[in-house]
Amino acid sequence: MASYKQQIRHSREELKTMKQLLNIATLLVLLCCLGGECKYMVYDTSHKIQPNKINVHLVPHSHDDVGWLKTVDQYYTGANNSIRGACVQNVLDSVISALIDDKNRKFIYVEMAFFQRWWNQQSEMLKIKVKELVNTGQLEFINGGMCMHDEATPHYIDLIDQTTLGHMFIKREFGQKPRVGWQIDPFGHSAVQAYLLGAELGFDSVFFARMDYQDREKRKNEKTLEVVWQGSKSLGSSSQLFTGIFPRHYDPPDGFTFEINDVSAPIQDDELLFDYNVQERVNDFVDAAIAQANETRTNHIMWAMGTDFRYQYAVSWFRQIDKFIHYVNLDGRVNALYSTPSIYTDAKHAADETWPLKTDDFFPYADKVNTYWTGYFTSRPTFKDYVRKMSGYYVVARQLEFYKGRNSSGPNTDALGDALAIAQHHDAVSGTQRQHVASDYALRIGKGYAEAEKVVASSLAFLTALRTSGNHENSVGTFQQCPLLNISYCPPSEAVLSDGKSLVIVVYNPLGWKREEVVRIPVSSHELIVLDSDGKEIKSQLLPIFNASLNMRNYHVKAYLGVSPSSTPQYWLGFTASVPPLGFSTYIISGAKHTDTSSTMSTVWTSDSTSDKTVVIGGGNLKLHYATDEGKLTHYINKRNLVEESIEHSYSYYSGHNSTNQASGAYIFRPSGTFPIKSEGQKAFAIIKGPIMDEVHHELNPWMYQVTRVYKEKEHAEVEFTIGPIPIDDGVGKEITTQITTNFKTNKTFYIDSNGRDFIKRVRDFRPDWDLQVNEPVAGNYYPINLGAYVEDGTLELSVLVDRAVGGSSLVDGQIELMLHRRLLFDDVKGVGELLNETICVLDDCKGLVVQGKFYIRIDPMGDGAKWRRTFGQEIYSPLLLAFAEQDGNDWKNSHASSLSMIDASYSLSNNTAIITLQELESGTVLLRLAHLYEVGEDKDYSVMASVELKKLFPNRKISKVREMNLSGNQERGEMEKKRLNWKVKDSSETKIVRGGGVDPEKLVVELGPMEIRTFFIDFDYLMMFASE
Ligand SMILES: [Zn+2]
Repeated sequence: MASYKQQIRHSREELKTMKQLLNIATLLVLLCCLGGECKYMVYDTSHKIQPNKINVHLVPHSHDDVGWLKTVDQYYTGANNSIRGACVQNVLDSVISALIDDKNRKFIYVEMAFFQRWWNQQSEMLKIKVKELVNTGQLEFINGGMCMHDEATPHYIDLIDQTTLGHMFIKREFGQKPRVGWQIDPFGHSAVQAYLLGAELGFDSVFFARMDYQDREKRKNEKTLEVVWQGSKSLGSSSQLFTGIFPRHYDPPDGFTFEINDVSAPIQDDELLFDYNVQERVNDFVDAAIAQANETRTNHIMWAMGTDFRYQYAVSWFRQIDKFIHYVNLDGRVNALYSTPSIYTDAKHAADETWPLKTDDFFPYADKVNTYWTGYFTSRPTFKDYVRKMSGYYVVARQLEFYKGRNSSGPNTDALGDALAIAQHHDAVSGTQRQHVASDYALRIGKGYAEAEKVVASSLAFLTALRTSGNHENSVGTFQQCPLLNISYCPPSEAVLSDGKSLVIVVYNPLGWKREEVVRIPVSSHELIVLDSDGKEIKSQLLPIFNASLNMRNYHVKAYLGVSPSSTPQYWLGFTASVPPLGFSTYIISGAKHTDTSSTMSTVWTSDSTSDKTVVIGGGNLKLHYATDEGKLTHYINKRNLVEESIEHSYSYYSGHNSTNQASGAYIFRPSGTFPIKSEGQKAFAIIKGPIMDEVHHELNPWMYQVTRVYKEKEHAEVEFTIGPIPIDDGVGKEITTQITTNFKTNKTFYIDSNGRDFIKRVRDFRPDWDLQVNEPVAGNYYPINLGAYVEDGTLELSVLVDRAVGGSSLVDGQIELMLHRRLLFDDVKGVGELLNETICVLDDCKGLVVQGKFYIRIDPMGDGAKWRRTFGQEIYSPLLLAFAEQDGNDWKNSHASSLSMIDASYSLSNNTAIITLQELESGTVLLRLAHLYEVGEDKDYSVMASVELKKLFPNRKISKVREMNLSGNQERGEMEKKRLNWKVKDSSETKIVRGGGVDPEKLVVELGPMEIRTFFIDFDYLMMFASE
């Protein structure tokens, strides 16, 4: 097969030479053709920009979803074609041939997950030719992440990671740096995309297709579909990006699509055949070009020549584009050319136009009156949770991998990185893929996790043994982790501690500041003592595990692992772990002897057993008041700052619209009614109190269970919800929401984060860019939440933080609403062609999906809320990592370090700075990414310049070289800044932007301005490692 392929390529080479000769004689050939004798036609496709004409930039592209109706590998290989005839291998094979055939042709490629698969299978000879195509600009990588990520539901750290993987691949294989963002399909566009995953990557522009239909109409009329977008208040014009929105969609105007079975009329230019139509088709082209030019500034317009999975037989497109360029330019009314978005961007820049300024973002997206794409903010809530938990795990696993030393051949974190990267695709974490595809993503993440888990275990074994015998090999296999801890399943902690055995828990903190947090583990006995790293006994609390939790645990363990748990834990054991920055502490749990004071058993009250009208929980500053008759939260009181407010917490559901006109489905949220979910009957609620935490358990109905938890040392309420299976026997799909309600006068205003980063002001029934016609008063006010939401009344702030991506809003003043789960019985006809009706199965016994998750509530005096939202928000993303081992006798302390910080013992990062990447690359160079967590003006103490001392971050290592890179690490920051295009902007005024200065090579201190993220490559002198020890 290979030699056959080579033969073809060889003859193509000859053909190419011939064509070049013929090109010279084009005019002559044309003359000959006019005589009607000539059959071989040569098309002149070499046209460049013409300054005095409308230039139609024809950009051949294929939009290749990294999983959607088929899995990523099925799309690549062309398997499962009964679902959809799509084979990306065909696209790349045929595009490359077509580009080699004619040096004027161009093509852009976007999704590196596919390109990498293809590239790895090519011969060295072909690779050389492809590199040539890339070097000459015929083939250009744009966007260049592993996938075209979603913009609503991923966390910004995931967006950075998946883009970095793709960009590093392109850099390594081609030495190229993508210049342009190409987010043509995501269903709405985020501020973080513009400034962070755009400008901070060194992109000069971003292009997309989907925007609100009302907004688009206005922009078409005003010629403002192209703007300069400043996504960040804090970084303002220093992170702005030229942004082009297509007038319709990411395909060509009607009549110009040329896949083999498309219906557009080809140009028929052979006079010996019937249906000669050159002038007719040229007229169509000129008409479409002029129509678009009338809506566009400057004399440059772009046609995206392609759409989903096109160019499987590439020459079918290129043949027609060749002809159009040839004949349209002969006609001469407009100028048509092969182009790319980079060439287009440069042309826009050269036009020296002043562009309208765009701030905030493009959410929510509606393509029609009742069609708001706000359902996917919540669709597949357990998959969203899995992606988020694994994202945090990937950060910590890379840290630990670095501390031990990366092993390229052995277990490493690469598979988890790859799996998470493709899970950011706009039909992955978004929840808009078919079920079998969702399972495929989860399987990949699961395999990646299994490998990363080994890295974490061996690294912790290495670190805990570091300061002693150095014989860490023995404990490599001993560290276990408990990914199902959230459903109270953790075999090592559940093991009965008998015969003098103890449980060792190593608690690792991936953040740069010291943390004190409650650790909870399921245990099987009740007389236990907990010893801290110094061997001192510390306070601990036992809480009962109720049957509702145990039933859920047993069912799901069977569903996930195929086996039933062998034991049943009786209690949760809670204690406060105190962990140094980027380091660990060790806790040892053993059976109490009669002489010890063992862990405190919680007191349990039920609503039947008390005659009090109200009950108060919270052993510290925060007190929550409940009305005992209904089990309802009534008051929130903080004794420290004297906040005292009425507050309610409720649940309700929307019935999903089932009309064939527009149903509520995987993408679309379209409610047909709202129904409160009341407590069914007089269900008991239980109150658990103890020295470390208090809990209120409330079973609202057989499919909704809620625990509200207040830790003695914390000033927020933690709500743990379990929802499902959502009943559908009434034939109605339901979308479950929760409301936290205060009396705040919030004047329709609320704030929601962008991808876990900047908070954006939202006003109910209002858009800053146009007069909103309100057709969907609920769905049209929904926004994606990744970190949290808050409202304020000038005196107080109510904040809610989430543990995964959800949709939410403030539909009533003083209230925050979150959508937590959805189960729908109609397809919303946006392409997926499947119902969003997730189930979980034990063998063939399936029931509706059960979601468990958490959100967090706090009320602060005005101006104090950001401290909690930012610093605690980062702790939600990066929870303490628990690893378990068993000790026989008392030997652990003798052979292991029990507490250690990997940074200088006297050092910690400020609460406004996080290490979001610490990773040893394959080359041995270390990638360090530091993020300022606060926006400008957000907090009086923390919205200031932060600094990080690299020498103290890496004690015992000699730093030999530090290079500041762009966000994806594919070029030095200075080089990127030099190339950056400056755009003239209308009505631009802003205050001074604060950014950190250059890093002095002697002092090695990194400064970070508010919201700044800085990326460094650090090389160490490994001979000097641990020299001080
Ligand atoms: Zn797509």
